[in-house]
Amino acid sequence: MHFSTLAAQIGCGWDTTTGAVSVPIYQTATFRHPGLGKSTGYDYSRSENPTRSVLEDAIARMDGGVAGFAYASGMAAVASLLLLFKAGDHLVVTEDLYGGTYRLFEQDFTRFGLAFSYVDTTDPATVEAAIQPQTRGLFLESLTNPLLKVADISTLAALGKRHGLMTIVDNTFLTPYLLRPLDLGADISLYSGTKYLAGHNDTVCGLAAVKTEELAEKVSFHQNAAGAVLGPQDSWLAIRGMKTLSVRMDRQLANARKITAWLCAHPLVTKVHFPGLPDHPGHDILKKNGKGFGAMIGFEVAEPGLVEKVLERLRLISFAESLGGVETLITFPALQTHADIEPEKRERMGINPQLLRLSVGIENAQDLIDDLSQALSGEAA
Ligand SMILES: *Cc1c(COP(=O)(O)O)cnc(C)c1O
Repeated sequence: MHFSTLAAQIGCGWDTTTGAVSVPIYQTATFRHPGLGKSTGYDYSRSENPTRSVLEDAIARMDGGVAGFAYASGMAAVASLLLLFKAGDHLVVTEDLYGGTYRLFEQDFTRFGLAFSYVDTTDPATVEAAIQPQTRGLFLESLTNPLLKVADISTLAALGKRHGLMTIVDNTFLTPYLLRPLDLGADISLYSGTKYLAGHNDTVCGLAAVKTEELAEKVSFHQNAAGAVLGPQDSWLAIRGMKTLSVRMDRQLANARKITAWLCAHPLVTKVHFPGLPDHPGHDILKKNGKGFGAMIGFEVAEPGLVEKVLERLRLISFAESLGGVETLITFPALQTHADIEPEKRERMGINPQLLRLSVGIENAQDLIDDLSQALSGEAA
């Protein structure tokens, strides 16, 4: 079945009692047992809830995994998956990691005896050099924020396998529509479903898919034990969003291409970071591993003073955190997502005070370009 068919059909035909096309929201904490030692398959909603089960089945199928899991947020997914490790274990991690993941690793999990090395995962040799005798996992982002660096998941997963490591990929920026980490050899894929998967900036959720039954059993145990599960209402919203994932992303990708071309030609834009550009260092890797370059764009304006003006003048595009929704959003990484990183390190990573990040939505591309145009130059396009 093609991706768009699978997506549109999520939950359809599931309710054989009523034939409801849209999966019902099972707003219940518990379930009546038919008798002693008997169960309908559902006992208590932390363990399993029918609405959540449909969502979990959907992410498993989209990602080609044996099982899927839904959590209260992307961070809840990461925290729950880290319970697969134990004190003394070491993980090699993408250096320009999502800020919330970095905070969780450094401020929480290090207190429980986990250790992390943050390296440039665009270079497999650097990753291999960081592997120690206690290393048990690779935690990668397939496409990073805000410089859109690309990790070669197939090469790194093979490397991980050689060293007996578990490879976990945060694939939030690409989604299974554009790249499937499990097909490329990873053990677990995970998502902030808040972003492209749910796609409407209206719910916070986390999703994961796993490659083997053995892992499914372990991840399921920790999901139930720690309990940061997604509620039935939010599961329904995520399902509703995922049904249109491919349609939304096709439009977002097309818009991103048009906006990138326009930005590249603008005299006040000095640099554009977009993996769809042939000279982007990750272009060929994404071409090999995936089906598209995403709809996130980083761009640098001619001087830092222009940043504030652009953010003030934008009328259509919202200055707001998050990404992946139908509405186009802009952020200023140096002061928002990456504010906690020391200035020199930030600068070394390439996150300078001229850098803005655009999450391209599904609006008309020309309207977005007109808004950027008047914001950059101070006059109508
Ligand atoms: C947003 C995000 C997260 C965290 O997800 P939440 O749903 O906000 O908890 C993790 N990884 C990446 C790449 C993200 O963009």
